[in-house]
Amino acid sequence: MPTEEATSWPTPAVAQLSTVLASAARTAGFDLDLDELPIAAALRTDLVLDLLHAAARHATNQWTRSLLGDAEADLGPLLAGRDNVELTVAAYDGMGLETRHLLDRADLRPRPGKDQHAFCLDIDRAGDIRVLANVAPGEESLDTMLHEVGHAVYDDHVDRLLPWALRCPPQPLATEAVALMLGRLRRDPEFLVESLQGLRRPEGRTTPDWASKIHLAVAPVYYQSYLLGELMAFQVDAAVREAVGGFVGRPDAGAFLAERVFAPGASRTWRDLVVHATGRPLGPEAFLAGLEA
Ligand SMILES: [Zn+2]
Repeated sequence: MPTEEATSWPTPAVAQLSTVLASAARTAGFDLDLDELPIAAALRTDLVLDLLHAAARHATNQWTRSLLGDAEADLGPLLAGRDNVELTVAAYDGMGLETRHLLDRADLRPRPGKDQHAFCLDIDRAGDIRVLANVAPGEESLDTMLHEVGHAVYDDHVDRLLPWALRCPPQPLATEAVALMLGRLRRDPEFLVESLQGLRRPEGRTTPDWASKIHLAVAPVYYQSYLLGELMAFQVDAAVREAVGGFVGRPDAGAFLAERVFAPGASRTWRDLVVHATGRPLGPEAFLAGLEA
């Protein structure tokens, strides 16, 4: 959305479309806030800037280091000889989230002339969810797989009894939050130990490892979804860790995500979804705590 629209939001066309959608939603029994309908879920620029300013004001040098991305250990040796698709399936298995039926439909391996990007597409909001990727050895590709499959499991768990128009994330930032959060599992100490070294997690271990670089993916157009998605990712990450102790090897983590984040689809506004999942409105606090961890 161009910046100048901040002062005249919503535009007349959006307002008109929202009115039509609100009327249709009410007919279907959903009493939605006019300003928060999917078509009007394009983010208000002032709200985006307020949140990002709040995060930036308090961010420490660690943020800068994270953005530069050179403060992290090289996972290369640990990943040598490992298949990133198998690691992804195992990571999601540990959370009790089935991915094989999704990967059966996926186009994962590189071939000449293939789209070089990676993305997930919910074709029909009825189970035909497809991931495209170009899986290669190494951490970057593992991040991509964990990320795209994160989108896929989200789509897969949206309540199919919802009306079609609501059977999707309420706003791109919500699905990016999930994908970013689960992409970061590759840096979770429990994942490194359990999945890559084949060792079992010691009982009672609760060490968090939220600090990780900001991943601005290659998808164009909606970078603010990644930035706000990061805020939501850290907030949901903290809520899951507080509720069930972590992600790796914990089906309760998958159940938490499926019930509190995925299932509501767009029947809740994105702001309402954040409160529903984490107990408070979206803010920079968990993100900042994660950077300082
Ligand atoms: Zn994504």
